[in-house]
Amino acid sequence: MKIALVGIGKIAVDQHVPSLAASDDWELAATVSRAGTVDGVPSYKDLDTMLAENADVEVVSLCLPPVPRYDYAKACLEAGRHVMLEKPPGATLAEVYDLQALAADKGLTLFATWHSRMAKGVQAAKAALAGKTIETAHIDWKENVRQWHPGQDWVFEPGGMGVFDPGINALSILTEVLPAPVFLREAVVYTPENRQTPIKANLTFSGGVTAEFDWLKEGTQMWEMTFRTTDGDTVHLLEGGNECVVNDQQMPVAELGEYPALYARMAELVKAGESDVDLAPMVHVSDAMTLGRRVTAPAFEW
Ligand code: NAP
Repeated sequence: MKIALVGIGKIAVDQHVPSLAASDDWELAATVSRAGTVDGVPSYKDLDTMLAENADVEVVSLCLPPVPRYDYAKACLEAGRHVMLEKPPGATLAEVYDLQALAADKGLTLFATWHSRMAKGVQAAKAALAGKTIETAHIDWKENVRQWHPGQDWVFEPGGMGVFDPGINALSILTEVLPAPVFLREAVVYTPENRQTPIKANLTFSGGVTAEFDWLKEGTQMWEMTFRTTDGDTVHLLEGGNECVVNDQQMPVAELGEYPALYARMAELVKAGESDVDLAPMVHVSDAMTLGRRVTAPAFEW
């Protein structure tokens, strides 16, 4: 299938372009970006022109930051194209519900992707926890924003989510592997005095689940979660969900990496005429913004 990529920036270059190039399912037929391009691929600065001139592009994958994404997604669906959304799927829940309804109305596929759910060890952890009762679970998602989002001011603007931009990846894994849903009970969100979005957050959920998100971690980066069950089992997810250890035993994991697996899933969804939109991770983030106690943190500069 022919696919177009919109928003040629960090994640498009790092992950989307190589994953498409390595896949037999896809041909990258066009890009849309104000500045970014991909060698050898026709590039457009304007979405409407790309859609008008490429009737054979069936699928559009949107790699923009969340705030501008809705308008692009709506235009693609209205032009009869299937749509794949980077995470988080939008700036607000309401606009994603609207896209979901529009895709259903038009008989098109909408895939709200969660790349961390495709991390290689996630299904092993889900299988290990199936049918169990969680006694406690803890998430440490601690990374250095200066290393992973250099100079990307949008992450600190309204809708950019701040530390919940990586934190929502952890929540996408949590909501996939837990055998029963949990609800946010308390949150503390730390926002730099000169910025609009949090740089650190501590969350307490029902069911003994806690999480610490920190965007100022220097040195070794940490993307880990540990689950203890009432049966006495311990399940560790390490390396952002790519390694799974159950009771000190390393589990076999999936072969495909996160983005190749997302594009394989998109191909399946289009062929099956289905959509996949699960907003559970984003609901937890919205809840943290609603329920969270605000703490002013020191100013942040790059
Ligand atoms: P980015 O590099 O800052 O932005 C991607 C591209 O989107 C930009 O290069 C820009 O291209 C275009 N863009 C930015 N603002 C725009 C606007 N207001 N209107 C239209 N186009 C705009 O961001 P990114 O790191 O790739 O992240 C994009 C999405 O991927 C986010 O939702 C993020 O959460 C997700 N993601 C990022 C990473 C990561 O490691 N960075 C990992 C996984 C997922 P032009 O200037 O050429 O138009």
